[in-house]
Amino acid sequence: MIVTRFPPSPTGHLHLGGARTALFNWLYARHTKGKFILRIEDTDTARSTQASVEAILESLKWLGIDWDEGPYFQSKRLPIYQEHIRKLLDSGHAYLCDCPPKRLERIRREALASGRKPKYDGKCRDRGLNPSDETVVRFKTPLAGSTVLADVVKGTIVFENSELDDFIIARQDDTPTYNFVVVVDDITMGVNVILRGDDHVMNTPKQILIYKALGADLPVFGHVPMVLGSDRSRLSKRHGAMSVLAYRDKGYLPEALINYLARLGWSYGDQEVFTTKELIEKFSLEKLGKSPGVFNPEKLLSLNAEHIKRTPPKILAQRLLPFLARRGVPVEGADLEAVVASLIPRSKTLVEMADGALFFYTDKVVYEESAARKFLKPENAPILKQVSARLERLPAFEEEALEDAFKGIMAQTGLKLGKIAQPVRVALTGKTASPGIFEILEILGKARTLERLRRAVEYIDAHAAQSVDENST
Ligand code: GLU
Repeated sequence: MIVTRFPPSPTGHLHLGGARTALFNWLYARHTKGKFILRIEDTDTARSTQASVEAILESLKWLGIDWDEGPYFQSKRLPIYQEHIRKLLDSGHAYLCDCPPKRLERIRREALASGRKPKYDGKCRDRGLNPSDETVVRFKTPLAGSTVLADVVKGTIVFENSELDDFIIARQDDTPTYNFVVVVDDITMGVNVILRGDDHVMNTPKQILIYKALGADLPVFGHVPMVLGSDRSRLSKRHGAMSVLAYRDKGYLPEALINYLARLGWSYGDQEVFTTKELIEKFSLEKLGKSPGVFNPEKLLSLNAEHIKRTPPKILAQRLLPFLARRGVPVEGADLEAVVASLIPRSKTLVEMADGALFFYTDKVVYEESAARKFLKPENAPILKQVSARLERLPAFEEEALEDAFKGIMAQTGLKLGKIAQPVRVALTGKTASPGIFEILEILGKARTLERLRRAVEYIDAHAAQSVDENST
């Protein structure tokens, strides 16, 4: 069984790069009907926070990335790490070292001065020291030979062992170091596929040596290139990238973000739009790309619009509710599903959709200034009155009947549809752009429509009176 994992360090929000790593591991586990483990790497107590843990969990839940085991916390696993350190000491794969910092610094300086790569010189390798407050535990890296990383993304990379150090696996205070705990966790949790960012490649030979020293099978490694910004530097806020939760709050659909992240480093022919189900079906390690994906906010936005179009109005309506609640809009009177359906073609995000839905739910439509100036003027008052009179007589407020009513007014007045529909649109919505006029009328229904038309005429009369006043003074 395939076992993958996502091991975030809880030192901040979940960002796009981390979310993509989680996604690849999750997709592979789901594709192979394997297991996906969540592990919180919180050994850096100075930088880890509970708020970050919560933000990460919330982000994954919102994305729909669910885990089968965990979250495990490294901070709660110290006895397991200590047991494995003892194993390595007992088997001669690790040793105690009490070299003082001063000496280490001198070796380092000498190496740099003579153009060599600084590394520990192995002074304590065979001294057989007893543990004390001064001792650290170092891994006994083989002095010769090489360590091979057979990476499913990058191909084979060979590291000369002579280039590697006798690195520290436990500090003076007994706390284990990063490369060591990652391997112990992955071995004891049965992880056999590790997909992660290629910023970890240089750690991997050390980790492979630890696997071997502990007599464990190697997992499959795949190091995916980092996500870049448009200037091809590592993706950051500067490139308009936000945290996962910020995308949620800006009205992105989790499916759209998942789709976008999956395509940022993985491909399937030239297909761009995928449902999450399709991604699970089609995901494979072979199609992980060697070249870095470049983040493009406009593409993400248009993908979001596409996913909005593909989501049933009933589901969108549910998702829209918190956005409407945040705007203090009571969802009463107009059927939300119908409102959503009318807004789908013109909404790239749920925020845009919520803004677009406002006029349906307020009886006091606010007229945009330019719209009012252009269309709520005295010569349009008779048109609005005529529309009112005709609509009042309609037995059913349905699109077809409404269209016939407007045709009747066009025939009677000789006016084109736009001349009639635009003032009506401003009266009903306050704006010059909105969903189709007949759709709006049907959703608003007779009583609210007539009330809005009446208010618009009132507005025109009041303004006409005001400008008469102004002219006469
Ligand atoms: N905790 C590490 C990070 O957040 C991940 C380590 C790993 O994937 O092996 O970068």
